[in-house]
Amino acid sequence: MESMSAARLHSVAQPFKVDQIPVPTPGDDDVLVRVRACGVVPNLKNVAYHYPEWFPFLPLPKLPAIYGLDPAGEIVAAGRHVDGLAPGQRVYVNPARSCGACAKCRRGETVACASFTFAGYFGFGQGSHRIFERYPGGGFAEYLVAPTSSIVALPDEVSFEQAARFGYLGTSYAALCHAKAGPHTSVLINGATGTLGVGATLLALAMGVPKILAVARNEKLLAAIKELNPKRIVTHSTLHGPCTEWAKAETQGFGPDVMIEALGPDAPVDATLTAMQSVSRGGRIVTIGGMEKDLPINPIWIMCSQISYLGSAWFTTAQGEDMATMVKAGTLDLSRLEHQCFKLDQVNEALEAAQHRNHGGFNNIVVMP
Ligand SMILES: [Zn+2]
Repeated sequence: MESMSAARLHSVAQPFKVDQIPVPTPGDDDVLVRVRACGVVPNLKNVAYHYPEWFPFLPLPKLPAIYGLDPAGEIVAAGRHVDGLAPGQRVYVNPARSCGACAKCRRGETVACASFTFAGYFGFGQGSHRIFERYPGGGFAEYLVAPTSSIVALPDEVSFEQAARFGYLGTSYAALCHAKAGPHTSVLINGATGTLGVGATLLALAMGVPKILAVARNEKLLAAIKELNPKRIVTHSTLHGPCTEWAKAETQGFGPDVMIEALGPDAPVDATLTAMQSVSRGGRIVTIGGMEKDLPINPIWIMCSQISYLGSAWFTTAQGEDMATMVKAGTLDLSRLEHQCFKLDQVNEALEAAQHRNHGGFNNIVVMP
């Protein structure tokens, strides 16, 4: 193979166009992956259309750019220094890249690297430009080069469409890990019916959380969340008022041990505050949804109640492997995701579909190059 189809963005806020371009060559420590599915996150259209204006300080891939955040496929070639991975292996490619050489990277805290970058999406620091030079391509192409450190081996139990959802599932999983969620905790998920919220619910179930308090507006979607496990999930629609007293009553008056804040940027401040006010003494609040308004937080409440308020972004390749292992073992059930698959030349429609999901976070928008 010498050339491949790739859907590329040629100028900001213009539709993607499918081009024939050379197949990239993997470096010595890289693999070449034949992409079979790539997830489309709801924010991707914002990145391609608005980020240069909204967030001019965030580095973006050079135009014409191959976007696509969550690729899964098969390895077709490996660099000469690659051990343990071989052609034919089914994989998910974690798009998280870091410099590999700074103090944070050396400690294994790759997400905290100042050059942290999402291949096929955007970067966070000046070092991201260097990373985009080395790994310019995302998943909206037939082939993609990726470093071995990004590879999650997929068991047969994980379909490519399911793996294409690993990005936001992993974001929810990492948040639950930060919060030390498990069989000894109750977990409130604020914004439970969105992409991150559904993921957090599925992962909390997989991690043995005995009581999950799902909070959102849409009653129909909350009913679908409840159906995932009627015994362990209770739901509250904020259409009937704030969740504070309800959440306390559901936890013997103490409040949930953990709160996952999965609300998006546009959420009203009160929707976050009323959920936070329910959290128990010693509780841990982890924000992952991108809610971006200023919150009035009283430090003495944080101090006296020993509350932790944490930010969490993305997840490590090792956590991606955890998820693959949980699916194989049957503890993480992804069968309720509803895949909507698009061909490569339908990328623009896929971006649109990701913005207008008819079944909330259950919808899984996938491009299949
Ligand atoms: Zn680094």
